[in-house]
Amino acid sequence: MTLEKSLNEHPLMDVNEGIVLFHPNIPKNAGTYINEVLKSRWIGQGPKVEEFELAFESKFSYPCKSLAVGSGTDALHLAYLLSGIKEDDEVIVPVFTCTATNIPLLYIGAKIVFCDIDHNLNIDADAIEELITPKTKAIVCVHYGGLPCEMDKIWYLAEKYNLKVIEDNAHALGATYKGEIIGSQSDFSMFSFQAIKHITTADGGMLAIKDPELLEKAKRLRWFGIDRLQKQKGIWDNDITEIGYKYQMTDIAASMGLASLEEFDEHLAHRQNLYKLYCEYLKNTKGIRIIGSEYQNREHAAWLLTAEVDDREGFMSHLRRHKIESSQVHFRNDRYTIFGGRQEGKFTNMDAMEDRYIVLPLHAKVSESDVKYIAEVIQLGW
Ligand SMILES: *Cc1c(COP(=O)(O)O)cnc(C)c1O
Repeated sequence: MTLEKSLNEHPLMDVNEGIVLFHPNIPKNAGTYINEVLKSRWIGQGPKVEEFELAFESKFSYPCKSLAVGSGTDALHLAYLLSGIKEDDEVIVPVFTCTATNIPLLYIGAKIVFCDIDHNLNIDADAIEELITPKTKAIVCVHYGGLPCEMDKIWYLAEKYNLKVIEDNAHALGATYKGEIIGSQSDFSMFSFQAIKHITTADGGMLAIKDPELLEKAKRLRWFGIDRLQKQKGIWDNDITEIGYKYQMTDIAASMGLASLEEFDEHLAHRQNLYKLYCEYLKNTKGIRIIGSEYQNREHAAWLLTAEVDDREGFMSHLRRHKIESSQVHFRNDRYTIFGGRQEGKFTNMDAMEDRYIVLPLHAKVSESDVKYIAEVIQLGW
């Protein structure tokens, strides 16, 4: 299907005319805090960035250190560099994720080794070991939709083969695995504050780093390779010996992040409640299964409500007629030319799921009665 045709059949909706798939979650103090920053001397990276890092760290990443950056993609690129991944090294990644998980590996020239998914669209932890070779440096996992991956198996393999574990937590802020908060245990964990994530700073990200000795290097890589504190002394003591980037967060963004932290628990509870309602309403409905709902030992962060449905095209048209937006959001990455193109038959679970998954509205503006309405529309059949 061409993009134009697809947009004609599933055009983006306006909030006023239906239930949209995504909506940014803007905390009530965002405007006030941004205004304070605008009146101050620092609008780029200043004291608010550090304040946000510390507040975020104590809530989500402790004992790992938190480093604020310009996007989740920046955080992943830094994580890959800090893991020591170099050209031609192999990195195992899930075949199904946002392209942003994998594109930074191409910046480095690393070899992407796709792994199949499990029935929850997370990396299939039982399919990882056979992909490991002497060139493998790291395993990347993505907690799809907000459901934590099988971390014990991943950490076990990483220890056995001396690999780094990098978690893409863009969907999973606030999720827990066996009672521990996601993002506090692996070598590196990335968070995204892109427009529609749990917390948004318009664009922004956070990198959680387990080894505290890497923090100074991470700070230099975030800023051209320069030691900012040395530079602020205004003296030449400031050689650049490694190539860095311009990946910092701004105080404007950080002040939005601080306002979001104030409301985070409430927002997460709202999302988790909607997720639970979808599960309850639809548990006996034929032709649909909510993905990621059957676990006791991990808490779903409810970023996406993804379902597996029969006749997805018919399902989407049916919702569309009732003014409910739905979309696939992410696509299997091996379809993209930059990642080498489709690998037919290699990922049997992905092949089986490819035409069956669909994402439904779940965000700050969706109400309990919206979910009831959506469930009723689904129960009409499609
Ligand atoms: C949003 C997202 C990213 C990218 O984060 P940005 O902040 O947009 O760079 C990476 N991975 C996943 C799974 C995402 O959903």
